[in-house]
Amino acid sequence: MKAIEERTRDAAFHEAAHAVLARKLGMRVDSVFIGGEEERGTAIVQVEEHTERRYEDHLLVSWAGWAADHKRRRYENVSEQDLSALYKARHKADKRLSDLFSTRLTLFKSGRISNVDAEIDAGVKFTAEERQQADELVLAARVAAQVLVREHWRAISRVAEALLRQKTLSQDELDAEIARAPSRRAKAGKR
Ligand SMILES: [Zn+2]
Repeated sequence: MKAIEERTRDAAFHEAAHAVLARKLGMRVDSVFIGGEEERGTAIVQVEEHTERRYEDHLLVSWAGWAADHKRRRYENVSEQDLSALYKARHKADKRLSDLFSTRLTLFKSGRISNVDAEIDAGVKFTAEERQQADELVLAARVAAQVLVREHWRAISRVAEALLRQKTLSQDELDAEIARAPSRRAKAGKR
């Protein structure tokens, strides 16, 4: 397979994982897209509710792409070298989102909820305990993302294949692909 095709496939699974987990958690996804410069792509997930629970969900969704890359390395033999290249380009943006939501969440948990965005704009000063809490939240989100990506892999694969065919999916198209993916239960039932 040519390098560009491999990169496109990586992007499709990565963005599909962000999008599927966001929908499974009840978040609005404006669109999912692959292609453009270096086959980067994006999944545009809206922040509609500013609650602790939602920040946890967004933190988790920010790690979904990473979790999909790791799963694919095992299942489709993506080489370590390709994965490193992916990390540099794609994970930089995800890391920024992870930082944003772990910071917001830590401010919430510390009771500094009155003006979260203003605090972030001003440059948040965390205590050592808050720093530790933020790090723990990120670790928990990574584990949760891996579990959910594994659980919803059939839907993620289906959405990835649809992205490879048509490059862009609206939320309705995304939901239709997720609905058509065989559930684990359905498969077990057939036997
Ligand atoms: Zn990503």
